[in-house]
Amino acid sequence: MADNKKQKTETPEEKVRKSAAENVTPKEEVKLGEQKEGQKPETSVKKEEESTYLWKNTELERKLEVSPNEISIIEIVDAMVNDAFQLRTSDIHIDPEETELKVRFRIDGVLQDFVPIPKELHSEIITRIKVLSGLRTDEHQAAQDGRFKANIHDYGQIDLRVSIAPTYYGENCVMRLLAAEGEIMTLEILGYSEEHLEIINRAIKKPYGMILATGPTGSGKTTTLYAILKKLNRREVSIITLEDPVEYSIEGINQIQVNPRTGMTFAQGLRFILRQDPDIIMVGEIRDNEAANIAVNAAMTGHLLLSTLHTNDATVTIPRLLDMGVEPFLIASTVNIAMGQRLVRTLCTQCRVPKKLTNTEIENVRGLMNQKFLAILEKNEGFYGPKGCEICGGSGYRGRIGIHEILEIDDDIRELVMKRMNAKEIRNYAIKKGMTTMFEDGIEKAAQGLTTIEEIFRVFHE
Ligand SMILES: [Zn+2]
Repeated sequence: MADNKKQKTETPEEKVRKSAAENVTPKEEVKLGEQKEGQKPETSVKKEEESTYLWKNTELERKLEVSPNEISIIEIVDAMVNDAFQLRTSDIHIDPEETELKVRFRIDGVLQDFVPIPKELHSEIITRIKVLSGLRTDEHQAAQDGRFKANIHDYGQIDLRVSIAPTYYGENCVMRLLAAEGEIMTLEILGYSEEHLEIINRAIKKPYGMILATGPTGSGKTTTLYAILKKLNRREVSIITLEDPVEYSIEGINQIQVNPRTGMTFAQGLRFILRQDPDIIMVGEIRDNEAANIAVNAAMTGHLLLSTLHTNDATVTIPRLLDMGVEPFLIASTVNIAMGQRLVRTLCTQCRVPKKLTNTEIENVRGLMNQKFLAILEKNEGFYGPKGCEICGGSGYRGRIGIHEILEIDDDIRELVMKRMNAKEIRNYAIKKGMTTMFEDGIEKAAQGLTTIEEIFRVFHE
């Protein structure tokens, strides 16, 4: 599989980046801002120094083009946030370097260069963001966190979470753009197939039990839980969440922020929530034995409990809970479903090009799939490759979609859990019984022209 990744053809974006990088000598790197929790280091291509950005007609560029005495810092920050929103950015990174302020946007999970800002404006930009977020403007040596609301043209307000930290060339800033409630995706938009939607609907109709979303950081687990919560959100039920942090606010749901300083840990918070008479509980993450056991107890005593676990696939959920000291009979009687997922980039529909899989590609994939999906592969129709155009900023991709697998705990799986079978045995059994794996779900989406096989391999290897 690793070989296949290396064979990946260069996207036009990579070509541009590479040729730009060839002309510039790499400088010493200061990369504090981008090493946020769970984010992978950049790929080798992006490690090179470069100043090429592919976006045209940006508001930020227009605001920077005026004469120095007409420059408005307020407008520059507004323009940057507006540009980011228009390009569907999740995070804005502003990193001071020796000669300029490097601005990068994380779009569809990948950091991309944006319009750089002259170094002279560094302190004023950071000060402006601090003022907006209610942070101390006279503090330059400590990390600070804040939040503010920004106005987006023709749209309304969005929330931004701000993190500022001192780096070698001065303070950097990372801003996370938070979606408004209306932006919370539905399960359909997240790419759940009919088959998977049916399984989820069965599981959430049960008045109690656990619904677990699994995957590495950035795989969209929380987004999936929010989509389910939105489906469950009715006047007649009481829903309470315990989150770290609260990422979206949803009307009609009581959302509690985890805060270890006030004793509101996941475990303590769960105990507290249970006294609040909830029907449905969402816990951001089950991290330790204590929280796992309280969660299982809650699910046993008539609550529907949604949470996430940091595991590679759906079936690993079972041994992970065993490791956390949960008894097999409790797992067997409380877990309704365990969902595994990854986010893959979707092909830009404006420029994607039809392609036939090569024999090598087919052979590389064949061994990873079951009979029912081999036909899709052998038919070799409907596959596309990326090209790159102005709409997608040259990357050939635009937007993301989930690829999924769901382990439904039925009587047979329950028996395996009671016997303390390992993840592999459970997985083989579930696949034999017809569980579609994430990989197969991905290939099906590739055969619909939504994504590429390279992209599926990429998310499994990151
Ligand atoms: Zn395109």
